[in-house]
Amino acid sequence: MTSQSCFPNPNKNRLDDQSPPEKICDLIIVGGGPGGLTAGLYARRAALDTILVDKGLPGGQMNNTATVENWPGTESISGAELSEKMTAHAQAYGLEIMGREVREIEPGLDYHTVRLDNDEELHALTVILATGGTPRKLGVPGEAENHGRGVSYCAVCDGFFFKNKTVVVVGGGDSALEEALYLAKIAAKVYLVHRREEFRAGMILQKSLRAEKKIEVLLNTVVKEIKSDDSGVTGVRLQNGKSGQETSLAADGVFIFIGFVPDNSLVPAGIRMNADGYVLTDEKCESCLPGLFVIGDLREKFVKQIVTAAADGCIAAQAAARHVEHRKSTGR
Ligand code: NAP
Repeated sequence: MTSQSCFPNPNKNRLDDQSPPEKICDLIIVGGGPGGLTAGLYARRAALDTILVDKGLPGGQMNNTATVENWPGTESISGAELSEKMTAHAQAYGLEIMGREVREIEPGLDYHTVRLDNDEELHALTVILATGGTPRKLGVPGEAENHGRGVSYCAVCDGFFFKNKTVVVVGGGDSALEEALYLAKIAAKVYLVHRREEFRAGMILQKSLRAEKKIEVLLNTVVKEIKSDDSGVTGVRLQNGKSGQETSLAADGVFIFIGFVPDNSLVPAGIRMNADGYVLTDEKCESCLPGLFVIGDLREKFVKQIVTAAADGCIAAQAAARHVEHRKSTGR
C-alpha cells in the first residue's frame, strides 16, 4: 500500500443495500491504451469477468505514433497496427470493449460504480484506471498540423528520424534537457529554446548540457510559429522575450517538452496524487483505495513508454484477480 489506505464512503455501494445491482462484474478497465489492453488480456486469461470502456479507438496515444521501434520482438511497426494487434489479441481471449465515455467513477464499500455518458451504470469489484494523459501543447500556429510531420513530443519514439539533421527542442525542465541530450547523440545540431533565463531542470542535467557541443541554448526565447512546406517542418519563428525581436531558424524537427498533463479527471476524490496530478500507487499499481488500480501514464513512475504501460497492465490485472478471489472467498 502507499503508506496507508484511503477508504470509500461506507454508505455507498453496499451489498446489503435495499436494491443492489443485478450484475457486478469482476473488473472494469477505463481506457484502452497499451496498459488497458494488456490488463484486459491478462484479466481474461485469469478468467475475470471484464469490460474495457474507451471513448475512442482502442490503442490510445499509440494511434498517433507513426512508427514504434522499441516494442520488443518487432523492429518496426506502425502505432495503428500495434493498436489493432493488441486489441485483437485481448478480444481473442473474450475481452468485451465498450465504446463509450466514462463520466464518473464512484468508489464504494463492496463494489465500485462506473457511470457512462448514456447514463448507464456498470458495477465491478475492481477498477483499473488507464486514462493516460497528453503532452502539454505550445498552442502556436503550425504545431497541430505538423504533429507527426516534424513536430514530436517523444524523442525516444521519433529521434531516429532526425539522424544528422537539425532539431529544435522547446522547454527548460528535466524532460527538455534530458531529451535534448538524447537527441544530440543522433542529430547534427540541437537548438534548445527556453522562455526564461534560468532552467527548471536539475543542476546535473544543466552541467551535461553545457558540456554538449552540439546543443546551442537560446534563452528568453519563445516559439511563435512552426513553419512547414509539403514535406514537413522547415523551421521556427522565434521571439526574444526581452527585446521583442523576431528571428527565424531553419530546422527539420521540433520536439516539445513543456510538461505532460495527466488525465486525472476520473480519479475519485480522496485518492492520493502527487503535486503534478499523477496517482500514487504501490508496486501492484493499487491506489490508496483497495481494488482501484491505476496504470500507465496516469501513475507516478519513472519511465512512460508503451512497454511500461503494458507491464503495469499485467501487474494490475494479476493484482485485481487476487483481490477478486479474496473477496469471493470471504463472501464480501
Ligand atoms: P516541467 O518540469 O513542468 O518543465 C516544463 C518546462 O516547460 C519548464 O521549463 C517551463 O518553463 C516550460 N514551459 C511550460 N509551459 C510552457 C509554454 N507554454 N511555453 C514555453 N515553455 C513552457 O516538465 P518536465 O520537464 O516534463 O518534467 C515533469 C516532471 O518530471 C518534473 O517534476 C521533473 O523533475 C520530472 N522529470 C524528472 C526527470 C529526471 O529526474 N531525470 C526527467 C524528466 C522529468 P518555466 O520553467 O519558465 O516554467
